Amino acid sequence: MGASGTYPVLGHPSSGYLIEQASTRIWCDAGPGTFVTLPVDPDLVDAIVISHQHPDHCLDVITAFHAFRYRPDPRGSVPVYCPAAVIERLSLFADNPELAQTFDFHAMSGGDSVVIGEIQLAFAWTDHSVPTLASRWEANGRVLAYSADTGPEGDWHAIAAGADLFLCEASYQGDLGRYPYKHHLTSALAGGIARSQNVKRLMLTHIPPYLDKTISVAEAEVSFDRPVELAVPGTSRKI
Ligand SMILES: [Zn+2]
Repeated sequence: MGASGTYPVLGHPSSGYLIEQASTRIWCDAGPGTFVTLPVDPDLVDAIVISHQHPDHCLDVITAFHAFRYRPDPRGSVPVYCPAAVIERLSLFADNPELAQTFDFHAMSGGDSVVIGEIQLAFAWTDHSVPTLASRWEANGRVLAYSADTGPEGDWHAIAAGADLFLCEASYQGDLGRYPYKHHLTSALAGGIARSQNVKRLMLTHIPPYLDKTISVAEAEVSFDRPVELAVPGTSRKI
């Protein structure tokens, strides 16, 4: 639904993906604009996975709360998997005990794994300024890896080992040294990590609206040494 880094612009919601395997549908990250662009009825979403508490990744959980709760036939107990800090922040913001009736929150940590329907999920802590989980999604012998938000440090890279598709953030261009905040990746770093983990395909995401995406792709293609894809809202990708 969305891949716009840091904030959305018209037609480009912030981070959010619908991941489907047979009859299992999981909404991964709920950046602003993603709820209204879900390509299926939100009642068909089996679970929600949130990588971290930054607003561009979780604000639409609150939107979904209102949509599920305040209607004639409320929906309850929707499973949400996320770091404990996300549960705290969303609860503070909603300031409403009914949030806990709408969602079944499950606190996840790096090293945890969980089976949701027909998808097996594993998590790793990333190099970000708040607790953030990268994720590995496996089903039918196929693997999707998602970096969430991260810098290059830490031991999260293996979450992408051999992945059929690695959805990786590329917030920056050029040299990481020129950015005061080191907890994001340049597109060249994304390509290098993808190459070192032998991923089959690399798809860049979380590129801010003010950057020229063709430059991000070109820089990642140099370090990955293969063609690189771009996450585009409103499109789908079979793995
Ligand atoms: Zn973030």
